[in-house]
Amino acid sequence: MSKEKIYLFDTTLRDGSQTQGVDFSLQDKIKISKALAVLGLDYIEAGWPGANPLDTSFFNDQPDVQDSTFVAFGMTKKSGRSAENDPGLSSLLNANTKSVCIVGKAWDFHVDIALNITNEENLENIKETAKHFVKNDKEFIFDAEHFFDGYKNNKEYALSCIKSAYDQGARWVVMCDTNGGTLPYEVSDIVYEVSKIIPGANLGIHTHNDTENAVGNSLAAVIAGVRHVQGTLNGLGERCGNANLVSIIPTLLFKKYFKDRFVTSVSEEKISYLTDCSRLLDEILNRKPNNRAAYVGSSAFAHKGGLHVSAVQKDPKTYEHIDPKLVGNNRTVVISDQAGRSNIISRLEKLKIVVDPKDPKIQKILDEVKDREFSGYSYDGADASFELLTRRLLGQVPKYIEIKNYEVSVVKNKDTSDDLNSKARATLIVDGKEIVCEGIGNGPVNALDQAIRNNLENIGKYSEYLNDLRLIDYKVRILNTGTNAMTRVSIESSDKSNNNWFTIGVSPNIIEASFRALIDSIDYKLYKSQAPANSK
Ligand SMILES: [Zn+2]
Repeated sequence: MSKEKIYLFDTTLRDGSQTQGVDFSLQDKIKISKALAVLGLDYIEAGWPGANPLDTSFFNDQPDVQDSTFVAFGMTKKSGRSAENDPGLSSLLNANTKSVCIVGKAWDFHVDIALNITNEENLENIKETAKHFVKNDKEFIFDAEHFFDGYKNNKEYALSCIKSAYDQGARWVVMCDTNGGTLPYEVSDIVYEVSKIIPGANLGIHTHNDTENAVGNSLAAVIAGVRHVQGTLNGLGERCGNANLVSIIPTLLFKKYFKDRFVTSVSEEKISYLTDCSRLLDEILNRKPNNRAAYVGSSAFAHKGGLHVSAVQKDPKTYEHIDPKLVGNNRTVVISDQAGRSNIISRLEKLKIVVDPKDPKIQKILDEVKDREFSGYSYDGADASFELLTRRLLGQVPKYIEIKNYEVSVVKNKDTSDDLNSKARATLIVDGKEIVCEGIGNGPVNALDQAIRNNLENIGKYSEYLNDLRLIDYKVRILNTGTNAMTRVSIESSDKSNNNWFTIGVSPNIIEASFRALIDSIDYKLYKSQAPANSK
């Protein structure tokens, strides 16, 4: 049995850009297009030429996207003018793409309420638009907006809308669940019925995630006959998002039912860029990646608990549905109170810390981790602090900047300003020399950080290692450990090579907890940069 191809259509740059708070620049669009091309998507819908200057200039000067095809988006011609005289359609014809995707209404309710034209006029607009692009040698893709709601409300009319496009030579007729309220069993039934009229080889699916079923609906549509799937990276899209291609693609590639029947243009080699591609979008949007994202999240292959960990080490299949490396992700072993020696050994291996499994130091590390977890530390996700803790116990981390003392004040003076003012003063010792630093910040931690790092030129040999250190996230949690409340602070840091690391500090006092997390961040950076030790 020869396998059928499922065509993959990405609309991150068009439908995805409808998301609240998302505003792609030209550079962002270029970066995302190139990443989608590396992944091997068939279609990249890059925007609406003529609708705004940014999209127009993108299409005027398109980046190289290898074997992927750019698609220009627009809508059916306006009533009362010919396709030839519709400026919207002209912008698409001139956009210099092989393919165009045109959205049109397929729900009579919308035709009446939103367009305020007759059902017949809408059919005519679809037909003339399709004819116009096919005549001008464009690959024509018709997005039938609200198709499922339209089908439920007036089946004959919804079908005549898509037939109007198909009969004029549309390459793809895409059924859209625009409001996202359709459930998988309905998608299956409706697609199956539609495929009796239009061949599945010309049908596509476009879903939204308003019932958390966008991925399931897309897969149901494939099973029922469609051969073209639209979606976005990380499910980006308005309201609850579009269908998430980052979940759909590996399912099509690795799950037996689909693998046995279908191929896609994303090869097994290319899909190893999937995690990078997903994180790139988060980076561009300045969002923290979703740890729990299927396939690509940092927790997707994280194991906690001694039993799970020892089983995973014997055979990963015991607790993993696929090998994380296939999608460019990693297995993570999370340290917890239940953890045994196997957990520690596995985590050390991941950090490339070589210790003989029989070495008594392993027990020492385990005891220390347990003690600290009892007092409120949690090394789940604080990899840098964990690495420092173990390397310090193994005697591998030299002493760097010594903090002799510090003092922080927070002042609010109603007479001068409503703002809180934080000041910090710290005495550091570097190579036997005392250095007094001062900083001002919007909070005590910021002021402490400023005090240490604003005086880099004064801290001699360490300045060159710390000038690109940035604190990018700061989180506080109050823990009730029994006797008294503890504060746990976690800090995410980054540097110019885009390394990210997480450190943690715990104390009954929020300033001290913050300070410990901050010092771990600095020490981690110095250790990784192989900075020299502080000499007495
Ligand atoms: Zn949509």
